[in-house]
Amino acid sequence: MTYIGRFAPSPSGPLHFGSLIAALGSYFQARSQQGVWRVRIEDLDPPREMVGASDWILRALDAYQLHWDGDVVYQSQRHALYQAQIDTWLAEGNAYYCQCSRKQIKEMGGFYNGHCRNLGHTDGAIRLKMATPITEFTDVRYGTMHIPLALAQEDFIIKRRDGLFAYNLAVVLDDIDQGITQVVRGADLIEPTGRQISLYRMLARAPVSYLHLPLAMDARGGKLSKQNHATAIDIKQPKTTLLEAMRFLGFTLPSEIESAEIEHILHWGCQNWQLFQLPNQLAMTVRFSNEAL
Ligand code: GLU
Ligand code: ZN
Repeated sequence: MTYIGRFAPSPSGPLHFGSLIAALGSYFQARSQQGVWRVRIEDLDPPREMVGASDWILRALDAYQLHWDGDVVYQSQRHALYQAQIDTWLAEGNAYYCQCSRKQIKEMGGFYNGHCRNLGHTDGAIRLKMATPITEFTDVRYGTMHIPLALAQEDFIIKRRDGLFAYNLAVVLDDIDQGITQVVRGADLIEPTGRQISLYRMLARAPVSYLHLPLAMDARGGKLSKQNHATAIDIKQPKTTLLEAMRFLGFTLPSEIESAEIEHILHWGCQNWQLFQLPNQLAMTVRFSNEAL
């Protein structure tokens, strides 16, 4: 079976170091197995998106010479696929409308308790009836991952009250539709993995396998993310950042590689990539060589 991997950024801002790690890790994992590597822009949530970020991300991947296969897929163009599945579940009684407020859910102890399951609402948020809670899964590098039972059991939202489709739903339907065989992404997405595997169960499909990559933390121990304004990666002089990202991913770089052209560095990376080189911890502090101390 051909390996098909992907990088699936949300265009909430330009690529930062943490998202470069996900891009590079998924790229090496795919290319080292002569696999396919796709790019999917997860533009599901316009209010949280930054104008121009999608194009910026694609230009950044170009600058780092991370060339993807096939056309870029945009989730904003795939609403019909998501809605069709929701309609099926609604018709089967596997999904239902919920009108509970955030305050009510807080009063339930923070996890939604199924309150609206049999109330017959005809609008509101749409929740999936959770029949197959997943409390653990095996990560191909990090082994058994545990997911809190309360989270696993929750009838989670697949379409929000404001009409936006939920990340967990879109990611699974797209990964199936695109033939993805393995998902490689940041460790911040370990918890939602349980819900995603539940969706595969509901759809009677074999789940993908999962590899989570250590999270890059800033010096204060926070996650580097677009939300906390982690700085955009340099696309004019990508090499320094590329080498830093590769070291973060556990490569020991020979000096002739450090002085090579990007194309050659990536080629060397594909040939030398090994899962066991990844750091043992799923979170690591990064200090950039050009960071003002
Ligand atoms: N779009 C998600 C993000 O940027 C990643 C989704 C995934 O890899 O499953 O955080
Ligand atoms: Zn409700």
